[in-house]
Amino acid sequence: MSDIAQRIAENIAEVRCRIAETAARCGRSARDITMVAVTKYVGVAEARAVAEAGCRVLGESRPQQLWEKAEALKDRPVAWHMIGHIQRNKVRRTLPLATLIESVDSMRLLETIDAEAASLGQTASILLEVNVSGEQAKHGFAPEAVEPLLEQIAACRNIRVGGLMGMAGWGGTQEDARRDFAALRQLRERLRPNCPREIVLDDLSMGMSGDFPAAIAEGATIVRIGSALFEGISR
Ligand SMILES: *Cc1c(COP(=O)(O)O)cnc(C)c1O
Repeated sequence: MSDIAQRIAENIAEVRCRIAETAARCGRSARDITMVAVTKYVGVAEARAVAEAGCRVLGESRPQQLWEKAEALKDRPVAWHMIGHIQRNKVRRTLPLATLIESVDSMRLLETIDAEAASLGQTASILLEVNVSGEQAKHGFAPEAVEPLLEQIAACRNIRVGGLMGMAGWGGTQEDARRDFAALRQLRERLRPNCPREIVLDDLSMGMSGDFPAAIAEGATIVRIGSALFEGISR
């Protein structure tokens, strides 16, 4: 194994260990937490090392990068999550390659995904991205915008909503991050009683390299880890 692959494998083991420790401390099972290995900082060779170190779910924030890496790694048993903003004209090519689009941030995008999924004869699994920190630079539905859209979302027959995705505000403390994650969980609890039965809100995708313990404490079922996996390798 190359030094780089070795280092990546060690970093992955360390993050997995921290996820397990945090879960245990919160009385949760690490098996209920999926780590998405975010490969946006690295090339195909390093992404391959991530897959070969046992990661089964990889994530990209740019569609073209997802297309390229998914194509290059199609011999590996990995699933891809789209985690970044996606323009509507990139949906058609992304749908067959991504098992989950975590970053659905507008009704227009959702309707495009529904229509493209229908024409491809598939159902698209998605999360609704919510801008819990309220920062202008962040994508996502405003928290209060979600509830009034639930019926309209449920009417999209080729979409399966599995939950919510969010990010903590930039540059805050762990407590600030935890407050944002709590807000996403509380939104989910508020939505649940009135949720059409087509919509499932089991997944909470939240937490990145710098704040995943706070996210796990607030109930994250998916954490998206990038930079921590590539510490110590030049890129
Ligand atoms: C880059 C990115 C991540 C991973 O961030 P790190 O801090 O590098 O772990 C997670 N989620 C989204 C949406 C991202 O764009």
